Amino acid sequence: MKVSLIPEKCIACGLCQTYSELFDYQDDGIVKFTDSDDLTKDISDSDVDALLAVKNCPTKALTIS
Ligand code: SF4
Repeated sequence: MKVSLIPEKCIACGLCQTYSELFDYQDDGIVKFTDSDDLTKDISDSDVDALLAVKNCPTKALTIS
């Protein structure tokens, strides 16, 4: 699976990192991946924490495909 970030939609609520360490924040609180500045990342199908983060993002700034 692939997770994509849409920073323009992020409201810097901080929720996604409480679900998964995959996510971190820029200095202004906008979401980024912890270990890269890319906007997409391949993840394991069994990464339930990441799936929960995507599902619970209030602004749909995280997508999965
Ligand atoms: S949960 Fe969504 S809106 Fe909140 S910080 Fe993460 S990406 Fe941004």
